[in-house]
Amino acid sequence: MHLSRFARFHFAHLPTPLEPMPRLSEYLAGPSLWIKRDDCTGLSSGGNKTRKLEFLMADAAERGADCVITQGATQSNHARQTCAAAAKLGFECHLLLEDRSGFHDDNYAQNGNVLLDQLHGANISLRPIDSDMSAEMDQFAQQLRDDGKKPYIIPGGGSNETGALGYVNAALELTHQANERSLRIDHLLHATGSAGTQAGLVVGMQAMNSGIPVYGVSVDAPQAEQEVKVYRLAQRTLDFMGLSQNIVPRESVVANSDYVGDGYGLPTESMIEAVNMLATHEGILLDPVYSGKAFAGLIDLVRKGFFDKGDNVVFLHTGGSVALFAYPKAFHLPGIH
Ligand SMILES: *Cc1c(COP(=O)(O)O)cnc(C)c1O
Repeated sequence: MHLSRFARFHFAHLPTPLEPMPRLSEYLAGPSLWIKRDDCTGLSSGGNKTRKLEFLMADAAERGADCVITQGATQSNHARQTCAAAAKLGFECHLLLEDRSGFHDDNYAQNGNVLLDQLHGANISLRPIDSDMSAEMDQFAQQLRDDGKKPYIIPGGGSNETGALGYVNAALELTHQANERSLRIDHLLHATGSAGTQAGLVVGMQAMNSGIPVYGVSVDAPQAEQEVKVYRLAQRTLDFMGLSQNIVPRESVVANSDYVGDGYGLPTESMIEAVNMLATHEGILLDPVYSGKAFAGLIDLVRKGFFDKGDNVVFLHTGGSVALFAYPKAFHLPGIH
């Protein structure tokens, strides 16, 4: 496995820190909890999409593109990191944002990621819920071509075989960090959505034969659907890398959809508890859409005794905390007295 064969820009702050969470581990009285800080990848407040974009933007440059198009929900972290990368590299950036949550209050529509998208100079247009966003991007790209531009389409979440390379690399990075400090990782958990993060991690961990199981907590799709999505992208990534598809057995792709609640981007009580718990015990900010729900899953699994007391459990923090500013009402805060 030699990732240098693929074009890549280097703008992420890597390696991201791998930190213990002693106060939280003591509070929950379960396994030793660690956190891999992919919320600290540097660009525009960070997040997991930055690793993927190092490969995707390099591919765009290699193909002679002068602008990029991507899509996501209104408060998409991926959209924000894409337009930040585009700004840094001198590409024009077009965002198609889908009104997936149906929230239209000022904070949701203008604050958080939407505020930052605009600061990065993105050209933004909204689409109604349940639009065929891939078709919308194709149509938009055609318009740009008609105007003499050279667009490069980045899929939602940056999740294709090129983007997934960023998380193949993260698997190498995390395993190396753990080896350096003799930390035996028994479980790795993270939020899974468009599947590129988990597909890349599974490919990397399996190709290295690390023995570190990857556990995705779904923020949207039901379990079977999410696992198939991850598995298929893992297969395509292996193919792209010239590796045998046999490396990734179907059972190494595990997703749990018990913490989605009423749907993508809709707050749950367990997410609120998780965000509060990490903020007050470790000084770390999760987000309401992804890492908060994934961490709610981790808390529940600890309480249910899913892990052994001597286990070392790593939570991959995929970022997104600027979305907190889009959801101030969800947190029942006491206010200032
Ligand atoms: C996009 C995102 C995820 C999910 O990663 P995928 O690669 O899309 O599965 C998790 N957390 C945050 C904060 C994200 O923005």
